[in-house]
Amino acid sequence: MSTFQAPKGTYDLLPPDSATYLAVREAIAAPLRNSGYGYIETPGFEDVELFARGVGESTDIVTKEMYAFETKGGDRLALRPEGTASVLRAALEANLHKAGNLPVKLWYSGSYYRYERPQKGRYRHFSQVGAEAIGAEDPALDAELIILADQAYRSLGLRNFRILLNSLGDKECRPVYRAALQDFLRGLDLDEDTLRRAEINPLRVLDDKREAVQRQLADAPLLRDHLCDACKAYHEEVRELITAAGVAFEDDPKLVRGLDYYTRTTFEFVHGGLGSQSAVGGGGRYDGLSEMIGGPALPSVGWALGVDRTVLALQAEGVTLDIPAATSVYAVPLGEEARRVLFGVVTELRRAGVAADFSFGGKGLKGAMKNANRSGARFALVAGERDLAEGTAQLKDMESGEQVPVALDAVVSTLRARLA
Ligand code: AMP
Repeated sequence: MSTFQAPKGTYDLLPPDSATYLAVREAIAAPLRNSGYGYIETPGFEDVELFARGVGESTDIVTKEMYAFETKGGDRLALRPEGTASVLRAALEANLHKAGNLPVKLWYSGSYYRYERPQKGRYRHFSQVGAEAIGAEDPALDAELIILADQAYRSLGLRNFRILLNSLGDKECRPVYRAALQDFLRGLDLDEDTLRRAEINPLRVLDDKREAVQRQLADAPLLRDHLCDACKAYHEEVRELITAAGVAFEDDPKLVRGLDYYTRTTFEFVHGGLGSQSAVGGGGRYDGLSEMIGGPALPSVGWALGVDRTVLALQAEGVTLDIPAATSVYAVPLGEEARRVLFGVVTELRRAGVAADFSFGGKGLKGAMKNANRSGARFALVAGERDLAEGTAQLKDMESGEQVPVALDAVVSTLRARLA
């Protein structure tokens, strides 16, 4: 061990487990790539104001959880706590929305940072794959994203997740509801902090997990009953399209989520096996965000799925992903001459697309074969002086134990055929 440890609330991804994380990212990305979403990458930090304005001045993310700092040059920056504001900022900066084809559909994958109280499933550095569809108001787009997330989870073999769906209304109906909710909250027995929150952002009080608060919220007015006709029709169509696709969901009239920019469609993917951090992913429509960060009106919708929690969900369901061994062939040279020759063969194998590794460090046969075993390779390729004199190497099938000599100049073709 060194003097240093991974910072509190973070952990390292190490082989072999790290392969699962890569596979999860890939599985979430695959349906997006297949549906017209282009890959975008933005910096790990942004102007702190982007998040303050975008995510919301009164949210926990901005007030308590942001890694904000001032640079030596005097810029006020923050490590990104989420992806949507950055992606929209980048799309606006590059004028992607003016290139014609709306919606602009983008997907991303990366690290996010929140100064949270660490616990299982809640880290200070975590990883998300996300998707944003910018510049179109169309219920089919909301439905598309929900269906693609469902497809991603299912392709991984997850079954015990649920989709919670709600509408948060728009700038017509939400203010009316907000006032009604505020009236209701003022009459409750709430602590000072919560009362303050009720004044700044009353919808988020609905999200309070405390039993004493939830009990009092049983009769709270619901946005569902205050939606304007346009929002009602929009939401109904999203529901119909998802239903027609055979994707099951539950209406959750109290679902609000911790970010201020959401309008209309809001959804969350929750998993039963994760304890209190049950949300594996979430998203929704954010029709006002572009204007909030100084852009034109660009109704948009997106989601972000957490890679860490998806891996935990897989573990909770006992799903192991079928990840092929990284190495197919492990070369074991016995002696100096064999080392040179087999190293050449390994290079050739790799160039031919065969995953090959080599016993480095001049180990003896026993130690080298132990490593060959550990690597999970299907074949070991062993050569000593006598083999070289005959122009061959021994090809050992690691499953059956069977061993046959193969001419050195036929190793690549033989292995390609046997691995096919
Ligand atoms: P949010 O942006 O809060 O809606 O988060 C979207 C998804 O990112 C969540 O459903 C989680 O899977 C994941 N996530 C958010 N915060 C954390 C965290 N602190 N640690 C691990 N995963 C997180």
